[in-house]
Amino acid sequence: MGDAPLGRAVFLDRDGVIVVNHTDYVRSWEQVQFLPGALDALRRLAGTPLAVVVVTNQSAVGRGLMSLDQMWAINAGIAATVSVQGGRLDRVYACPHRPDEGCACRKPAPGMLLAAAADMGLDLSRSYLVGDAVSDVEAAMAVGAQPILVLTGRGEAQRAGLRAKGYDVPVVADLAEAVAWILARETGDGDRQSADGVG
Ligand SMILES: [Mg+2]
Ligand SMILES: [Zn+2]
Repeated sequence: MGDAPLGRAVFLDRDGVIVVNHTDYVRSWEQVQFLPGALDALRRLAGTPLAVVVVTNQSAVGRGLMSLDQMWAINAGIAATVSVQGGRLDRVYACPHRPDEGCACRKPAPGMLLAAAADMGLDLSRSYLVGDAVSDVEAAMAVGAQPILVLTGRGEAQRAGLRAKGYDVPVVADLAEAVAWILARETGDGDRQSADGVG
């Protein structure tokens, strides 16, 4: 990677953050339903220099409920729709394994984040992860990224789990609020940098 400065990313869980979560998995394009405000939020995020990277557990593949091709077709359709609406999903990482396979990529393991860091040259400690589950928060914490929990999808139910584990994590209504939180943080960083420059 030479001397190029590391980039930063907003990692996004997919189901329950961008599209409606289904308890029996999103297994076809017909089941894909964008959450209210999600596409607008992704358009705002696209206006930042931050990479936008999806990291999604898709154990329906490992459970034999959906093929890898079907899963990637759904991801491609989501990315295309986001793009048409002015947003961007720079990369999508998916774990197809079942929990009992003990892989390194299924969240809460940080394998997908580490892969993205290697592939894209990212500083994970200065990146964000928006998710609707404790496993998302833990994947972020494992690499020192800033987790944000949304209350869409499983978020409302998972919030108690966060409290039980004593995690002090920002909790916001949805992806739009998460993006607003990130943009506010980023603006703050900018102010500090310009203040430093003046000094
Ligand atoms: Mg989710
Ligand atoms: Zn995996």
